[in-house]
Amino acid sequence: MKKFTINDFVEYFPVCLNCNKNNKFVILSDLRTERQIVITNDSIVIPLSVNYQNSLNLNFEIQRKTNKFIFSNDKEAIKDYVHDRKFYLRVYCFTCRSFSETSVFDFDFNKDYLKPFQISQEIISIKFNGSNYFVDSNFQSQRTDIEKLTFKSGRAILDFETNVSLYPKYKWKTPEALAKRISKLEKFE
Ligand SMILES: [Zn+2]
Repeated sequence: MKKFTINDFVEYFPVCLNCNKNNKFVILSDLRTERQIVITNDSIVIPLSVNYQNSLNLNFEIQRKTNKFIFSNDKEAIKDYVHDRKFYLRVYCFTCRSFSETSVFDFDFNKDYLKPFQISQEIISIKFNGSNYFVDSNFQSQRTDIEKLTFKSGRAILDFETNVSLYPKYKWKTPEALAKRISKLEKFE
């Protein structure tokens, strides 16, 4: 399965496939908190924790070129914070709610780098020729659910649904290409 570095990931999905608007990149933890990451030319900064009582701000910085961690003097605090938690990244479009989510990050504190990761789940929502398509991919099971809805007299009618082997977003350059592929599937069913 395709593996991503953090740099691949931010470069791969800078804009939404459907809306062509800038995507939002957030880090999620098993505490269900969502924080926007900071993307600079050289690094990605993950804000880990903000403790207002003792004003501890932990920023975990990862170099884009090498995947290496950049520490100031807070390595031990970052290690402690990360140790018992799981982190993963989500990129999403605020307009159409298309998103991709990564597998859980594996931080290597012996070599101080972030191991390449996979995508775990993805939902693409596209509008094409008066229909709405929902493409929901589960990378664990390597399967994709596809639904095509068409609005007729103000009601959404399910025109077509199927389950196919994985249709990852990185295979599609445009929403038209994906919609046309789905139309072919529809003809064969
Ligand atoms: Zn969108």
